[in-house]
Amino acid sequence: MKSILEETKFIMNRYHIKPNKSLGQNFLICEEVVEKIIECSRITKEDLIIEIGPGLGTLTKYLLERAGKVLCIELDKKMIHILEERFKLYDNFEILNQDVLKVDLKKIILKEKKDAKVTNVKIVANLPYYITTPIIMKLLEEELDLESITVMIQKEVANRLIAIPGQKETGAITYSVYYYSVGEEILEVPSDSFIPKPEVTSKIIKLNIRKQPPVEVKNKDVMFKIIKSAFMQKRKTLLNALNNTKIFTTKGKGIKILKELNLKENIRPENLSLQDFANITNKIL
Ligand code: SAM
Repeated sequence: MKSILEETKFIMNRYHIKPNKSLGQNFLICEEVVEKIIECSRITKEDLIIEIGPGLGTLTKYLLERAGKVLCIELDKKMIHILEERFKLYDNFEILNQDVLKVDLKKIILKEKKDAKVTNVKIVANLPYYITTPIIMKLLEEELDLESITVMIQKEVANRLIAIPGQKETGAITYSVYYYSVGEEILEVPSDSFIPKPEVTSKIIKLNIRKQPPVEVKNKDVMFKIIKSAFMQKRKTLLNALNNTKIFTTKGKGIKILKELNLKENIRPENLSLQDFANITNKIL
């Protein structure tokens, strides 16, 4: 049996593939990493797996053996041809030649749950790094009927996404990810696990989608607007940031709200918990 590295080189030679840097094509060549992604995704025959960016099909091959159905979304037409040929014997394989950011995933999931008789939907992907954040935010903000999202992404982005809000490495995005999911760190992956080698270290993370949000807030969109305003001016105190962006109508009102919530007047945005932002939102509305 060929190793993943041998198999990847063989396919690349056979189809004259030169990895397209602008599409974030770094192909996985490490058995241990593939096995870890598959293992932590806990795939069963009741699952529909949506794989974003299957590339040459390294992960796809393992997914097809375990899942009820695998639906791949790949932008590069060259890959579509390879995948269709490689997996033509599998009746649980389907591929869409589209930009994942433009796909109506809600509609697809509804249809697949009805037709393919799958009960759970999971995302598994070694993502193209140039659009990691928009992809993850799309998956979360569209409130898709998902159980989990297992992805390999750049290490620094991974750390920010799965940080606990209010602790270190917090950014505005940390709060959104935390609102929708419980993050898990799975494995750090060195750059020599890919061809070509990316310039960064990677990490596998798993986001387990929450059934209920962790805070009660009158309007979550307003809360996320407040969080974004707070982090747009990160060097400033929360009070100044929200005053400058007119979230607090006057500085005096801002001071009063912070006092009522037992928050220090000079607190910085990154020191607030999600509950603190929910409380501020509830006071303003
Ligand atoms: N899954 C393969 C692996 O692990 O070896 C390839 C991963 S590679 C990091 C990312 C893949 O995403 C590439 O195949 C690339 O063509 C695809 N891709 C890039 N932009 C995309 C987009 N907007 N929509 C769907 N796929 C995209």
